[in-house]
Amino acid sequence: MVQVLACPACSAEKLNVLDCESMMALNAQIALFTMRCPTCAARISSIQPIPPELRGELRAAALAVDAMGYLNAK
Ligand SMILES: [Zn+2]
Repeated sequence: MVQVLACPACSAEKLNVLDCESMMALNAQIALFTMRCPTCAARISSIQPIPPELRGELRAAALAVDAMGYLNAK
C-alpha cells in the first residue's frame, strides 16, 4: 500500500509519504511526515500511519538509538 497525499497549496496528488524529508514517529503506528511538494515546493506536514515499508527501517533506527518507549509500544 502506497500512501499518497494531496498538496494543500496546489492540489498535486503525487506526494508519496515514502519520499518524505523527515518522519517523526509519534508511536509504533503513527508518524508526522514532512515533505516538500515537487510541483510548488510547499512544505507539507501530515500525520499518517507508518507504511509497512518504513516500519522495518524505523524499528532498526529505534534499536540503534534505543528510542524511548518505542520498543515497549507494541
Ligand atoms: Zn504543491
